[in-house]
Amino acid sequence: MTPPMTLSDWENLARNLRLPNRPLIDGKSVEGRAPALAALNPATGQTLTHISACAEEDIDRAVAAARRTFESGVWRDMARAERKKRLLKLAELINTHQNELALLETLDMGKPIGDTLAYDIPEAARTYAWYAETIDKQYDEIAPTDSHSLATITREPLGVVAAVVPWNYPLLMATWKVAPALAMGNSVVLKPAEQSCLTALRLGELALEADIPAGVLNIVPGTGPVAGQALGLHNDVDCLAFTGSTQTGKRFMQYSGQSNLKQVWLECGGKSPHIIFDDCPDLDRAALAAAIGIFNNQGEVCIAGSRLYVQAGVYDAFMQKLDALAQTMQPGNPLDPKTMMGAIVDERQLDKVLGYIRQGQEQGAHLRLGGERVRTETGGYYIQPTIFECPTQNLGIVREEIFGPVLAATRFETEEQALGMANDSTYGLGSGLWTADLSRAHRVSRKLRAGLVWVNCYFDGDVTVPFGGVKQLGFGRDKSLHALDKYSALKTTWIKLA
Ligand code: NAD
Repeated sequence: MTPPMTLSDWENLARNLRLPNRPLIDGKSVEGRAPALAALNPATGQTLTHISACAEEDIDRAVAAARRTFESGVWRDMARAERKKRLLKLAELINTHQNELALLETLDMGKPIGDTLAYDIPEAARTYAWYAETIDKQYDEIAPTDSHSLATITREPLGVVAAVVPWNYPLLMATWKVAPALAMGNSVVLKPAEQSCLTALRLGELALEADIPAGVLNIVPGTGPVAGQALGLHNDVDCLAFTGSTQTGKRFMQYSGQSNLKQVWLECGGKSPHIIFDDCPDLDRAALAAAIGIFNNQGEVCIAGSRLYVQAGVYDAFMQKLDALAQTMQPGNPLDPKTMMGAIVDERQLDKVLGYIRQGQEQGAHLRLGGERVRTETGGYYIQPTIFECPTQNLGIVREEIFGPVLAATRFETEEQALGMANDSTYGLGSGLWTADLSRAHRVSRKLRAGLVWVNCYFDGDVTVPFGGVKQLGFGRDKSLHALDKYSALKTTWIKLA
């Protein structure tokens, strides 16, 4: 057995790592016509490389390549067993390039190498494999017509799917869209976030290596207002799958209305409540889940349990346990396998998070733990795990998505009070509750206005279940068989029998 990699192993590997930095259009590495983007390492603030970025005409080329491959049938009409084989091959290639992809993700985005290695990359591989397996297991329908007719209801790919994704789980968020879209037979144009293009570009190369035909998966790095908008407004894009902020999500609805009424699927922001009742079956486990729920991935998680509600009877004991756990999750070098919390993605996000910390103090919240920028000598963007106790729900840190390691905790007395506060949000993605009372678990789960409810756990799940929410989180669902619906249209064929 090979021994686990150490910090110096990763540093050595990083020194010799090839950084993909050009758009991939129609199977070719091309020069984009927009000003290049700097790929920064959030752990040091240093430039890793410059990414050649796409202008509107590059987006036109990518969409044209996707359209041509779709209409040619080279992917859509490929024998299902063969399409499945190639998508499985992509999954396998992701697994065999696990170290390289994990390192690219960590360098580009600042998250701990332990996390990219244990979760982001293998989960992406599992997702491609899972959707590959659906390809030859989908059945269509025959309608119950009279005996003089035959009506079939078939599911067909949409055509050109554009995916616009954020920086917090770059490869995985892309995969949640690309895998089901490809499995349905569509051609895809993927635009990664400005801050995190590296794994998307490598994914495009691996797809070619897996014999997914040139032009079926195009990767177009670029800025939101240029490349993202060009995709949103494009008249030849049939479907736009978006993950990112609510503000940008709203723009994509407008782009669709201004152009060709393309289908738009939105997975946007969150401010998820995590409720600990007095009868919590295991306070230690709950405290660990609450700590991971907000500090994992530096709090840059759409389902982060950023609003914590703890019932009065266990409040003090619970918060002490949480403090102790948070202390053990201080930020460190993302390349160190022991690091549990890495660097914030860039200086803009760092300033945003620090701004919320200041605002919380000014608005009267009690800063219980953390609140400081640390490791400044590295040049990187690190913030301590931060816990606020909130006397009221009328605070920016309770109401708005911070997307950083900042927890807003509130004490409550009754179930009704907890539910009222939990549902008092414009968002509705994740939610969690801890109780030993089965009736309460069902009752509260039903009343929580959220797409995901965790009972006596937090963050658990896999590709088999839908991921999405309600209210201003948007209405798309990633993962599970339901995601295939987003990338297909139903066709009715009515045949008059002689
Ligand atoms: P963002 O909205 O700024 O950017 C997301 C993507 O949209 C990027 O690719 C960006 O280039 C593009 N974009 C930005 N402005 C655009 C414009 N004017 N026109 C077209 N495209 C544009 O979001 P972000 O800061 O990258 O990501 C953080 C957000 O993502 C958070 O709100 C988080 O909650 C959300 N998120 C949601 C989920 C989910 O499943 N619901 C998962 C991860 C992240």
